[in-house]
Amino acid sequence: MMRPMVSNKLLSRLPRARASLLRAFGNLADEGGVSLYLVGGVVRDLLLKRENWDLDLTVEGDGIAFARLVADRYGAGLAVFERFATARLAFPDGLKIDIATTRRESYAQPALLPTVQPASIEEDLSRRDFTINALAVQLNPQQFGRMLDPYGGQSDLRARTLRVLHAGSFQDDPTRIFRAIRFEQRLGFRLEPATLRLLAQAASTNLILRLSGPRLQNEFLLLLAERDPVRAIARLAQLKLLRFLHRRLCYTKNVQRTVTAVPKALAWWAHRFPDSVIERPIVYLMVLSSESSPAVVATMIRRLALSREQAKKMNIGRPRVDRALKRLTDSWAVRHSQVFRLLTDFSDEALVLLLAKPRSTQSGLRGLLKRHLVAHMKNRTVKTALTGRDLQSMGLQPGPQYTTILGKLWDARIDGVVTTEAEERVFVRKWLGKQDIRNDCY
Ligand code: ATP
Ligand code: MG
Repeated sequence: MMRPMVSNKLLSRLPRARASLLRAFGNLADEGGVSLYLVGGVVRDLLLKRENWDLDLTVEGDGIAFARLVADRYGAGLAVFERFATARLAFPDGLKIDIATTRRESYAQPALLPTVQPASIEEDLSRRDFTINALAVQLNPQQFGRMLDPYGGQSDLRARTLRVLHAGSFQDDPTRIFRAIRFEQRLGFRLEPATLRLLAQAASTNLILRLSGPRLQNEFLLLLAERDPVRAIARLAQLKLLRFLHRRLCYTKNVQRTVTAVPKALAWWAHRFPDSVIERPIVYLMVLSSESSPAVVATMIRRLALSREQAKKMNIGRPRVDRALKRLTDSWAVRHSQVFRLLTDFSDEALVLLLAKPRSTQSGLRGLLKRHLVAHMKNRTVKTALTGRDLQSMGLQPGPQYTTILGKLWDARIDGVVTTEAEERVFVRKWLGKQDIRNDCY
């Protein structure tokens, strides 16, 4: 059992430099005549002894004016979002801190963004998603370390329970449905029975359809970005929430098996290609839609308002993935240039998808595929020694044939047919010779 916490001690769980920075901010808050609090996830994680570097601060008073004061004093960069009465500070050492103004939110219509008005810290805590996130620690010197816990957040933390603050919570803001699953799975907490009932109720309506693309995307991708989202995905499926990606999404047994295989595929990939930056949520989205039609995938991309780059990463298409997988696991006797052609335009995320597919999890085939992928990644950086300019100096008229010749040359390079510049020149001459003979025949 976690004992009730003397919050001074709680803040000393932060790295020393952070703790003294918060103390200094507390002094500044007194100077500015406002009350200052550390709020939300960071308080929760301090109590749970989990690392969390997001120092979210909230000011009872004018948050933006306080942020200006801090920015002046510390030479920090300042971005102000007047509409939300929030600011973001960027300190010279790279630290970023969000400062908000305590506020009340009212929902004119379910699922849409609320109207925001300044309010007390108590009211601010009352608009939060779960009791464990409705905690604040005051930072002003006289009250430094005072814990505000009006909803029993600490007791729920001890009981490892997620609980909403009121019955209309999921309706006001259905993104909380995804947040609930995120915290439940991340922390290994249990949804308190009434909360689970409310969640299931809200999930069974079409409220989520009212969420804007960017808001749905934000929470969905955050869920998929968790360290191990496999169980969270199973929970989404169990609660019939995957239909909000697309109502005809095919979540087949094969897809489920592929989802399960993703963490291992990602781990291998990260170990083998540490320079490749993978957008893990995109891999999971690709897997989730891997047995759905291109039309379903396209609609899903639009619904989630994915960026052009994200869409491009995803848009390989099932037939190409299946063809590549079959060919690459059929035999080792595929030339490197053929592998390259099969995988042209495949994002790194799509290559991880290949690895996670059931066919590739059969041990013999997996070895084969991995060897192809290693060769492919190496070949992507190979260049020919000769360039267009060299072709010109060899007496060739510039034109579309340059692309053809350089392409052939590149194939020869990665297939090991040529290995030096001299061999490349011989190769080009020979190839041109063959073309001439062929032309003669016409
Ligand atoms: P994480 O560790 O994933 O960042 P977090 O609890 O810090 O989790 P954030 O999304 O960073 O979550 O939000 C910070 C705080 O803002 C939360 O702890 C919660 O109090 C509040 N909050 C965020 N989103 C909502 C929401 N949709 N409804 C109500 N309160 C929210
Ligand atoms: Mg956070």
